[in-house]
Amino acid sequence: MQLKQLIREIPDFPKPGINFYDITTLLKDKRGFAETIEAMQAHYRNARVDVVVGIEARGYFFAPAMAHALHAGFVPVRKPKKLPHTVRSVEYELEYGTDRLEMHADAIEAGQSVLIIDDVLATGGTAAAVARLVEQVGGTVAGLGFVIELTFLKGRDRLAGRDVFSLLQY
Ligand code: AMP
Repeated sequence: MQLKQLIREIPDFPKPGINFYDITTLLKDKRGFAETIEAMQAHYRNARVDVVVGIEARGYFFAPAMAHALHAGFVPVRKPKKLPHTVRSVEYELEYGTDRLEMHADAIEAGQSVLIIDDVLATGGTAAAVARLVEQVGGTVAGLGFVIELTFLKGRDRLAGRDVFSLLQY
């Protein structure tokens, strides 16, 4: 199956110059969604994964399914002020200014092996920050997995030395 045919490209969304990769058209296709999860989990079949971390918001579409497939737990990384208990946070650079992501301080046990999942790897700034956050709370990053990688943005360079996997490259 050609999974790329199930991904809708929207030019100039959410602002001029951005080509947005809309994965809702992949998610609603029962074969496409199943194939996506099966192909991604195959990459980690022989890896130790205790916890799958999903990045708000579109990482949540894939991370829980990956956790289920890998018999691992699921932990959400959230935008600020959403989590109710004690949090650890990480700041990262945006094009203009900075942003912050949070995780419950007790979400990951020391030494647990963690797979980080998001829909798109663009510049890698978000994923690199989440990897730092996982390590800050005592986890070991087993890898970072993405449905889509925008190779021209060289996000991999910001994740050098880590296991980076993407299913589809543009
Ligand atoms: P970055 O930190 O630059 O790697 O950006 C990654 C985040 O932005 C991911 O959570 C994606 O959901 C989102 N993102 C960045 N660029 C795109 C794009 N062209 N289409 C869809 N989502 C994108």
